[in-house]
Amino acid sequence: MSSSSPDITIPADLRPSDGRFGSGPSKVRADAMAALVAAAPTYLGTSHRQSPVKSVVGRLRAGMGELFALPEGFEVVFGNGGAAYFWDVALFSLIERRSQHLSFGNFSESFTTMVANAAHLDSPDVIESPAGTHPEAKPNPDVDAYALTHNETSTGVAMEVLRPAPAEEGLVLVDATSAAGGMRVDPGQFDVYYFSPQKGFGSDGGLWIALCSPAALARVDKIKATGRWIPESLSLATAIENARLNQTYNTPGLATLFLMCDQLEWILANGGLEWAASRCETSTNILYGWAEKSDFATPFVADHAARSPVVATIDLDDSIDAKAVTKVLRANGIVDTEPYRRLGRNQLRVAVYPSVEPDDVALLTGAIDHVVSALS
Ligand SMILES: *Cc1c(COP(=O)(O)O)cnc(C)c1O
Repeated sequence: MSSSSPDITIPADLRPSDGRFGSGPSKVRADAMAALVAAAPTYLGTSHRQSPVKSVVGRLRAGMGELFALPEGFEVVFGNGGAAYFWDVALFSLIERRSQHLSFGNFSESFTTMVANAAHLDSPDVIESPAGTHPEAKPNPDVDAYALTHNETSTGVAMEVLRPAPAEEGLVLVDATSAAGGMRVDPGQFDVYYFSPQKGFGSDGGLWIALCSPAALARVDKIKATGRWIPESLSLATAIENARLNQTYNTPGLATLFLMCDQLEWILANGGLEWAASRCETSTNILYGWAEKSDFATPFVADHAARSPVVATIDLDDSIDAKAVTKVLRANGIVDTEPYRRLGRNQLRVAVYPSVEPDDVALLTGAIDHVVSALS
């Protein structure tokens, strides 16, 4: 197998209209960029404590409530740093003493490790399963929070968000970074659903968003009242106070907020979460269906129910060098189909968040076929 990039040109009729299939940062819609450019003169470069920016944050808070059908009493909270940063927020402001973690890929494992290293918390209850599968949560009276991952972006495994135990017996904290906006979820099944804007919300990174239930808000107050030392930028209580004023604790990326708001309102205008989830399923079904018929490609996730509807992982036969395939695709403007770097498989990983056109996914499968036959 060689990773040198042969000079293969993908014919024009097999080229997607947009070549971005990355898991994050992901495709930003051209219409969203045009709207940002149009708004820029009175928006970019203005105070985040004044109305142009605060009104975008207000629209985001209301729109998220509508998209996820959040019940009364939920709060939509924002902070700088992204989902990985929110793990630190959670271990300071949401986990009281001990948490259970489902660990089944790089992201869920990272949060588990951070909690295990936190001196103020007890060792977590960790339930693991091999890459390409997911474990099930188990009710445990000794934990006060359950850490779930809706879509494990590193492996392309998704799982339904379900409370492992009655609501009063533990908070359900869901890493929804790549799932949010592209997968259905019942807000009755979580206490915190957190994510970043650069995946399904087709914006840029550096921000976290957390949908917090009344029980989560109560936990934040309870932990604060114990006097636990919490760094200010990691304090969910501080973020909540700011969110209620349509602000963030410190300066956020204004373009990021704007693009996320545009994407959210675009999804709502098209029919909301059901529309977006169906669109993503259409796209991944094209990929899984193609792989199942192909004589050189196979969906990595064997269990159909666990196959992600937003990030498809497709193994290639050993006779084909996936690195050579992704290199040729990249040279032809089709980017970020490489597998998660630490998974180490001969694989393609294709993210199809709501921004991606299903027709482009169909063209992508034709382009891959063309490249593979040209390479062999
Ligand atoms: C991308 C991702 C993260 C990290 O998000 P950042 O915005 O880079 O902090 C965490 N969890 C999952 C499941 C992800 O897909």
